[in-house]
Amino acid sequence: MTAKLIKGTEIREEILNEIEEDVKKIKASHDRVPGLVTILIGENPASISYVTLKIKTANRLGFHEIQDNQPEDVSEADLLALIDTYNSDDSINGILVQLPLPKHIDEKKVLNAIDPDKDVDGFHPVNVGRLMIGGDAVKFPPCTPAGIQEMIIRSGVETSGAEVVVVGRSNIVGKPIANMMVQKGPGANSTVTIVHTRTKDLAAHCKRADILIVAAGVPGLVKPEWIKPGACVIDVGVNRVGEKISEKTGKKIAILRGDVDFEAAKEIAGSITPVPGGVGPMTITMLMKNTLKSFKFQLGIA
Ligand code: NAD
Repeated sequence: MTAKLIKGTEIREEILNEIEEDVKKIKASHDRVPGLVTILIGENPASISYVTLKIKTANRLGFHEIQDNQPEDVSEADLLALIDTYNSDDSINGILVQLPLPKHIDEKKVLNAIDPDKDVDGFHPVNVGRLMIGGDAVKFPPCTPAGIQEMIIRSGVETSGAEVVVVGRSNIVGKPIANMMVQKGPGANSTVTIVHTRTKDLAAHCKRADILIVAAGVPGLVKPEWIKPGACVIDVGVNRVGEKISEKTGKKIAILRGDVDFEAAKEIAGSITPVPGGVGPMTITMLMKNTLKSFKFQLGIA
């Protein structure tokens, strides 16, 4: 069997086009656009490249975008005061503080200072609680899990009554996606198992999964014999396993591998996400979707 490829790059385009259309319509009716601020502290190259991509996407969608760069030695008090300014700025619907932060700043304190109604990353404890409650309580699902669920829905995989196994229990992927899949509603209603480093028989659990979501950060962890024939396999892992020269640019680029042995797994699974080009492109897309949602809440049209 050769599995159907679930391509994040294609689904991203679909969703971004929908957001773009929505933004145009609301601009015409309300003469306003969603506002997003990205706060970048210091000059970490990976953070710069993530923020640059977020800004580029926000600009493409016609958002009002503020890039607020702060020096590496900005004090915690000044950063908290800056967040407070954006909390009370009506033109801003989403506040994004790029992580990781320098060591002298308490990350938890900073994330908790963001107004939960502008926390488009969905990391604030209030939004984690809303996600746990489910249904109408959810405002901003965290972006990577939201992207995973969207991919499952848009590729037509049945989730109701499905056995979902999530490998990994992190706060940003494993726990929230497990929580989302168990809720009532479309793209959910599943029976969910979370497995992790202390799980006794990882293979046996994975083998039962109709939908296997893997977010462990271990290249090739999931072997083909752990996959139930016809299952949907979502590989969240992004692992740098070496470097190569890009054919397009001639520059050195990372060789990326997922947490699943893709080449063998695609012969057994019914559908599967590639790495790169699978879950990766969905995260920023869902960040934009959350920002639009926040804007609609503000206008009372959500
Ligand atoms: P994490 O390190 O915080 O959590 C990994 C989890 O996997 C842990 O709960 C751990 O118990 C479990 N785990 C690790 N090794 C295991 C093993 N051998 N057996 C069973 N369980 C094991 O990682 P994270 O932040 O959740 O990210 C996981 C992977 O997903 C990483 O490769 C990361 O780069 C990737 N990721 C991708 C995106 C994206 O594509 N947008 C976003 C977030 C994370």
